[in-house]
Amino acid sequence: MIDIISQSLTQLINNIKDKKVSSEEVTKSFIQRAEKSKKLNCYIAEDFENAINKAKKFDNKPNYDSKLPGIPIAVKDLFCTKNVKTTAGSKILSNFVPTYESTVTQNMWNEGAILLGKLNCDEFAMGSSNETSFFGNVQSPIDKNLVPGGSSGGSASAVAGQLTPITIGTDTGGSIRQPASFTGIVGLKPTYGSCSRYGIVAFASSLDQAGPMAQNVKDCALLQEVISTYDPKDSTSIDFKRSHYSKKLTNNIKGKKIGIPKEYRVDGMPKEIEDLWQKGINHVKECGAETIDISLPHTSYALPAYYIVAPAEASSNLARYDGVKYGFRVKGENLIDMYEKTRSEGFGAEVQRRIMIGTYVLSSGYYDAYYLKAQKVRKLIKNDFDEAYKKVDAILTPSTPSSAFKIGEKTNDPVSMYLNDIFTVPVNLAGLPGISIPAGHDSRGYPLGLQIIGKAFDEQNILNIAFAMEEKINFKNKITDWWIK
Ligand code: GLN
Repeated sequence: MIDIISQSLTQLINNIKDKKVSSEEVTKSFIQRAEKSKKLNCYIAEDFENAINKAKKFDNKPNYDSKLPGIPIAVKDLFCTKNVKTTAGSKILSNFVPTYESTVTQNMWNEGAILLGKLNCDEFAMGSSNETSFFGNVQSPIDKNLVPGGSSGGSASAVAGQLTPITIGTDTGGSIRQPASFTGIVGLKPTYGSCSRYGIVAFASSLDQAGPMAQNVKDCALLQEVISTYDPKDSTSIDFKRSHYSKKLTNNIKGKKIGIPKEYRVDGMPKEIEDLWQKGINHVKECGAETIDISLPHTSYALPAYYIVAPAEASSNLARYDGVKYGFRVKGENLIDMYEKTRSEGFGAEVQRRIMIGTYVLSSGYYDAYYLKAQKVRKLIKNDFDEAYKKVDAILTPSTPSSAFKIGEKTNDPVSMYLNDIFTVPVNLAGLPGISIPAGHDSRGYPLGLQIIGKAFDEQNILNIAFAMEEKINFKNKITDWWIK
């Protein structure tokens, strides 16, 4: 008997193709696991009955040539799924059922995958701990008291806890890589324009990217291959030649030049993160790569620039939730009163904070001082990377400045919460691809991640480096089972 839920995506695909298991068996196993794992609060909406029906349909008429044959997958609740509730973790969308499908999810269904349901996330993907969700926080399968990271916290816990063989998240400032790092899984944020944003609930449109979250690098490469397509429905989608990421995956990284940016050695960084980084440096050297000290001089301005650009775009994107067209509505005395009541009851505190910051930095008189300035800083950050890539092929950094923190630890201190994104946001500002891989544990056994940042459209290269490192690191996640019924 195959232990279905502990299989990697690649193993499951092979077992289905070899007819050792059926899609129905696989689907039912993950559903059973989800039923036993309610304490994690991973799911916002379950689509289990439909999933079983789709699995049976697949088994009756299998297409083994597809890339995800009969594989059940749960996705972050930021992706619009036709006829399945899509909330973005918000009260204001708590009754929203899209009439259309996001391109990236459609790409997965086209390759034979089956939707299991929608996974919890921070409200409108704003957060680093999954504590801003209207549907309650997600627990980490590593430890009851830990946050899973955010905003793709439900996705991270679901992969680490084996509730889904793989998933997709979105990353605006770190929301794939940071939760991946906190839960001991792999997460890839692709180059801006690589995955279509069509049908993804918008947060900050010039930063948002969808990407895979997986148990290992190979699975991650395979899903990236499926979801990354040129899409005329997204005006920022880019028509470049995409690689067969999984087929071309190699651990041969001999001669690659890997940059180590000195600015990522931030004040107060725990020694265990320093040590982890050093271990990573040793590993790539053992693989025959060369490390080179580099400088990304504007790194310390990335976070303040991000927390102007992202809220500015969010305030504009979220103007559409006015209680008129769709979503939650509170009746008012008149139109303005209805807007005010709907938005103050429909949005949570963090979202309201971002709308206020965003509206402020875009208002006349402050636009030049804040928004325009932040855009200039963004360009300088991009220039730093361009300079570095004249000398190196990729950059290696820690994924986060610490391991996962405790639930409630940072909820009353937004700035300390924002600081968690210090290593991930520069990558979004520059539109580059970045991958987080599990690389070790802190003294309490909590996972720690390393990030590899690539040149634009060079996903294959960072996947290869991650693949080579993964082999050396041989990471074993210390999942407890406190949550299993
Ligand atoms: N934690 C960051 C924020 O709150 C990033 C979120 C994201 O990438 N969606 O904005």
